[in-house]
Amino acid sequence: MMLNFPIDLRSDTVTEPTPAMRKAIADAEVGDDVFSDDPTVLRLQEKTAEILGKEAAIYVPSGTMSNQIGVRLHCRPGDELICEKDSHLYNYEQGGYTQLSGVSARPIEGKEGVLKVEQLRGAIRPDDEHQTRTRLVCLENTHNRAAGRILPYDETKEICDWGHENNLRMHLDGARLFNAVVGSNISADRWACHFDTVSVCFSKGLGAPVGSALAGSEELIREARRHRKLFGGGMRQVGIIAVAALYALDNNIDRLAEDHTNAQIIADAVSSNEFLKLDSERIDTNIIFIKVDPRLGTAAQFTGALENEGVRALVLAADLVRMVTNLQVSQEAARRVADVIRRVGEDGLR
Ligand SMILES: *Cc1c(COP(=O)(O)O)cnc(C)c1O
Repeated sequence: MMLNFPIDLRSDTVTEPTPAMRKAIADAEVGDDVFSDDPTVLRLQEKTAEILGKEAAIYVPSGTMSNQIGVRLHCRPGDELICEKDSHLYNYEQGGYTQLSGVSARPIEGKEGVLKVEQLRGAIRPDDEHQTRTRLVCLENTHNRAAGRILPYDETKEICDWGHENNLRMHLDGARLFNAVVGSNISADRWACHFDTVSVCFSKGLGAPVGSALAGSEELIREARRHRKLFGGGMRQVGIIAVAALYALDNNIDRLAEDHTNAQIIADAVSSNEFLKLDSERIDTNIIFIKVDPRLGTAAQFTGALENEGVRALVLAADLVRMVTNLQVSQEAARRVADVIRRVGEDGLR
């Protein structure tokens, strides 16, 4: 097989539709989805709901919109949500819950992205007119900033049970839920059943060009349609991209295991380089965070050296680099990246 050049590890969003996916796009049946007339979107929504064990699902343009609709479904202005300090919702969505829905956030620091129920017990505010109302807990699985960490299943269930016992709603940012499914051998519906709403992305590891979905009860998803329209996410003959998500659900879930194997190959090379260090205890799925020792150079100098070898990675801080394996990175390519990383360890940056 030919290597794709450059080998792009900046994100699992960089993948482009394959010829088979493009064929499905060309052949898609479409209709006006704001009238619920697009048969392909309806099929995608039904299939997504079925996989997640929910009554209904709604197709949306992005994971950010999916999360923000989730928050808006559960909270009213003046309410507060609890989330993990490094979560996507808290850090990478412009505080959308504040801007769009008048909701504040209470971030709590987990260990490598993982919260414990004991940390949450004191976080529900009392019924007191001085204070916001605690309404929602948002969890993220896999956890992006925690190197694609799969949340521990039993503790996750425990947090959700505790939340529900305390009249809180539970939302899952499952942008990479299918990586967690493949990595844990726990089905998507077993993860999803503990949450009121679940967001999944088709445009990450699954390799579709566009789109996410929010799943939940019939009643919540009916309401979600209103919020989607408000946020400008009502789309017309959108079966043309929804079909790529359907294709991805049919063809690209099981193969995520290859991305996980490839991430491990790269992580092993990182561990063998005395100037580089994994920024997490272990790699569960497809995301690798690398700390660059200043004796080697800055993160930007390190990625510059990689770029000269045809490898692209993302600089996230002066000493921090991220690599994400994806369906355009073959095992051969991952081995090549590992070789480059080892060589940089032996020879330093040039
Ligand atoms: C990518 C991502 C999202 C949403 O991404 P969009 O770029 O808006 O589709 C949400 N949560 C997590 C954890 C993500 O990695």
